[in-house]
Amino acid sequence: MVGDVAVGGHAPISVQSMTVTRTADVEGTLQQVYELAMAGADIVRCTCNEVEAAEGLARIVPRSPVPIVADIHHQYRMALAALEAGVHCLRLNPGNIRKPEHIRTVAAEARDRLVPIRIGVNGGSLHPDLYRKHGDRVTPEAMVESALTEIGYFAEVGFDLVKISVKASSVPLMIDAYRQLAEATDHPLHLGVTEAGPPPAGLIKSTAGIATLLAEGIGDTIRYSLTADPVAEARAGRQLLESMGLRERRNVDLIACPSCGRAEIDVVAVAEEAMAAFADREIPLQVAVMGCVVNGPGEARDADLGIAAGRGRGHLFVGGRNAAVVAEDEMVDALVEWAELIHAEGPEAALSRVDTEKAEREASRDRERLLTEQGDDVDDASSRIESIRRRTS
Ligand code: SF4
Repeated sequence: MVGDVAVGGHAPISVQSMTVTRTADVEGTLQQVYELAMAGADIVRCTCNEVEAAEGLARIVPRSPVPIVADIHHQYRMALAALEAGVHCLRLNPGNIRKPEHIRTVAAEARDRLVPIRIGVNGGSLHPDLYRKHGDRVTPEAMVESALTEIGYFAEVGFDLVKISVKASSVPLMIDAYRQLAEATDHPLHLGVTEAGPPPAGLIKSTAGIATLLAEGIGDTIRYSLTADPVAEARAGRQLLESMGLRERRNVDLIACPSCGRAEIDVVAVAEEAMAAFADREIPLQVAVMGCVVNGPGEARDADLGIAAGRGRGHLFVGGRNAAVVAEDEMVDALVEWAELIHAEGPEAALSRVDTEKAEREASRDRERLLTEQGDDVDDASSRIESIRRRTS
């Protein structure tokens, strides 16, 4: 347990993120903790790098909406101070706190307080002895050995409330390290690609590493380490778990067609506008933005709600059924309004308020007109191919 969040076993995979404020700035840090929790973080880590940070944690922990982990790097005394502040978990980097007696002291104090510790091995700050032993390279074996050595120190004082991470900025390296670690121990694992960088590359690297392992059944809690607003980290973590079916949907899952020659609107702009309008609203529906009424409603028939453009209008559909026609510049407002209605009252109740037959007639009319104007093959590929064949035969 990290506070009231279970980690490991059959517990849901949890999302973590980290504040970027000075922890001594209690109000600023708390505000960010709340933003991260809103965006999907189940657990938030704060640095505890100075006495003022530990004092800040003593004020932050009781007011936080989620459990707080104190991040400890070089000073074991900061770990003791964080425990005194009442944090729900510590993160220790074995490459930075190296004296066995210091490690044992922290573990014994955590044991007495029933506070778990994450052993956070980091490829970039591996213990120098291990680095040398493994050929002056960071290897999966060296990272796993670092974690197991730390567990050994903990065991000497009878402490085993442990979760482990073996992060690296190289995706193949971290995948190998976690696979080996999962073979070597049953402790819960915290997954992440460290220093993944700014989005989109950072998102892609993190997703590649974390999702690969989760799909193999490895991992109990995750963090995206992005060079970005940490809210983006929390949101990405939550979205990954929802998209893999590992957590229930909490926010809108916005799908949109990729657009093509048939598109009657700027699909990218409308989809972005819709993303911003839904943001972190807790509406667990799949919502579709489709560029044309010719194919849109059919292609997105499994969405809870969607809108497809046709001749200056938006055709709103619910569960594949046409529901209403709205002006093109009101499409996003209508989506938000209908999403709230469906979420509150259910799709049938929402549909009972409108004339679905009329909406279907209007959609058919626009579909027919577009087909008449554009033809069956909007990109005119068939006639081009015929012409190529004529010229080359
Ligand atoms: S929904 Fe329409 S605009 Fe979007 S990709 Fe399909 S055919 Fe093209």
